[in-house]
Amino acid sequence: MNYEAVIGLEVHAQLLTRTKIFCHCSTAFGAPPNTHTCPVCLGMPGVLPVLNRKVVDYALRMALAIHCTIASESRFARKNYFYPDLPKGYQISQYELPVAEHGYVFIEVNGDKTRRIGITRIHMEEDAGKLIHDPYRPVSAVDFNRTGVPLIEIVSEPDMRTAAEAGAYLRQLRAILRYLEICDGNMEEGSFRCDANVSVRAAGSETFGTRTELKNMNSFKHVENALTYEIKRQKACLEDGRQVVQETRLWDPDKGITAPMRGKEEADDYRYFPDPDLVPLVIDDRWVEEIRASLPELPDAKKARFVSDYDLPPYDAGFLTSSRALADYFETCVKHFPEPKTVSNWIMGSVSATLKAKNKTIEKSPVSAERLAELLRLIDSGVISGKIAKTVFEGMVEKGKAPEAIVREKGLVQVTDPDAIAEVVKKVLGDHAKEVSDYKAGKTKLFGFFVGQVMKATRGKANPKMVNEILKKMIDHDAGRESGG
Ligand code: ADP
Ligand code: MG
Ligand code: ZN
Repeated sequence: MNYEAVIGLEVHAQLLTRTKIFCHCSTAFGAPPNTHTCPVCLGMPGVLPVLNRKVVDYALRMALAIHCTIASESRFARKNYFYPDLPKGYQISQYELPVAEHGYVFIEVNGDKTRRIGITRIHMEEDAGKLIHDPYRPVSAVDFNRTGVPLIEIVSEPDMRTAAEAGAYLRQLRAILRYLEICDGNMEEGSFRCDANVSVRAAGSETFGTRTELKNMNSFKHVENALTYEIKRQKACLEDGRQVVQETRLWDPDKGITAPMRGKEEADDYRYFPDPDLVPLVIDDRWVEEIRASLPELPDAKKARFVSDYDLPPYDAGFLTSSRALADYFETCVKHFPEPKTVSNWIMGSVSATLKAKNKTIEKSPVSAERLAELLRLIDSGVISGKIAKTVFEGMVEKGKAPEAIVREKGLVQVTDPDAIAEVVKKVLGDHAKEVSDYKAGKTKLFGFFVGQVMKATRGKANPKMVNEILKKMIDHDAGRESGG
């Protein structure tokens, strides 16, 4: 039988507000434990939460960006459970009436046709604290700095069919959150987290199979690997005539497997009920329109514009718009050197390779967009060859200098004097009499060898096009004379 996977994701995004969702404590990361706390986020008796307006602004930004319907009235609810990182004994979340519902995003896998992934809902909630387990003693400590830090949870429809689609969906959500500047999207630090629900069914079936929920994945790669493993495991289960058990499973990145964490019997009963301490949240059209007007150009729109305005291939446009900063870098560079495809090639090539090697993002690029444009102008005006430009670029990365300065210091100016080039060609042909006669005997592939020798003799500085022309003229003229004899 042919099986297909069904995947739905629950994503938690930590919002970049300065203060927590229901009190004035700072959300800054990395402070000494329990210094960003107050009676409200510590859940002392008698305190009252006050909703941070910025949290709603940010949730609305995301809701509008992914085409959700905004609830004119939504509610906060208490999700009751006991855990040492939750001082109140309940988490304030939204349940029956979330702030936004029924949205969608488009994803693309390997440049293939786009797929629409439905968004079920977005709701706001507070984060819990953090347990720190002592590796040497049976003791755990708790840090409440994170308690009350605002999150939005984005729940997708079960619309994805492969691990790659889940990866593409997550990257798209993260890109949008970062464009909106409401979440830093750092998966390793946990400010962008994902639980993956997955089931397997007969291909084309209308009903869903039993699902498992995967946790503990702190990179895109982990999510994709965990899903790939789990889909295979569930298929094997069904093929053997066994049933998939509904349960939560943990991804073990070292072993490369998922293992059960808790089953349905232990499924939590959260006894949700509306939080009596918080009034219903009313959002009027004016608030929504104010937020809508403040939205930046988003990834899909920017990509479409890059294709139409700069005549770039969709692949390039997708790459360059993967972050706002990268897109800005490209546009700044094009402003100073208006050849979009050349700029794109350099950004996708040398610039990206350098950033990857140095583990930096474009914001911290050692070569600014303006400097890259200067380099491209030097190539364009024939001062240096494209090949030498790579060397100059390396110098710009290491020394942080302007390209002109490097060209001047290292004497890299391109040789474009035909007489000078002819001189070198003549010498190369004279030094390689054997290859010359082989060439004349029909081994025309040797042409490249001669070009290489000329470039070597000029330390790469000869204009390659001129070398080709002059070489061709001299060697063929020579050949013609001999055979004509
Ligand atoms: P819960 O709150 O128990 O996690 P939800 O109904 O909110 O359950 O679903 C959570 C996620 O699971 C959603 O993203 C949804 O798309 C996905 N989902 C639901 N049923 C299935 C299924 N049979 N297979 C795969 N994903 C599913
Ligand atoms: Mg769930
Ligand atoms: Zn507080």
